[in-house]
Amino acid sequence: MFFRKNKEQKSAETKRSLTLKRHVADSIITYAKSCHPNEGILILQGQTKKNNIVVDGLVVPPFASHGPYYSGFPTYDLPFDLSYIGTAHSHPGGSNRPSLEDLNNFYGFISVIVCYPYSDQDIGAFDRNGNKVHVDIV
Ligand SMILES: [Zn+2]
Repeated sequence: MFFRKNKEQKSAETKRSLTLKRHVADSIITYAKSCHPNEGILILQGQTKKNNIVVDGLVVPPFASHGPYYSGFPTYDLPFDLSYIGTAHSHPGGSNRPSLEDLNNFYGFISVIVCYPYSDQDIGAFDRNGNKVHVDIV
C-alpha cells in the first residue's frame, strides 16, 4: 500500500507559519540565557489566523520547574485562557529539535524551542506532530 502521496498532500495543506514579534523573540532569548545551563519555559500569548500564528506576548508560568534536561509546569494550574497558544522553551544543548518528551507534553498549537547560544537563528518552531514551522521575526 502506498500512502506517501496522501501524506505529502496533507502536510502541504496544514502548512503553518509562525510570526514572533521582535520584543517576544528578544524576551525568549533573554529568558533562555538567564536560565542557562538549565531549561527555561514560557507561555506564548497571541492569535491563530488560518495558517499563521502570531505571538505578541509571553507569560512566565507559575510553579515552573527547571532542570538541565526537562522544563515543565503543571498545566492544571493555568487559568483557562484562549490567548495561551503554546509554549517556548530553551535547549541548553545545541539542538532546537523537539525531544520525545516535548512532543508528549505538547501544549497549545505551537512549540518554540531556542537552543544554545540563543540567537535569532537558534529559534525553531514545531507543531503538535513535530513538523517544523517556518518562523518570521517582525
Ligand atoms: Zn525540549
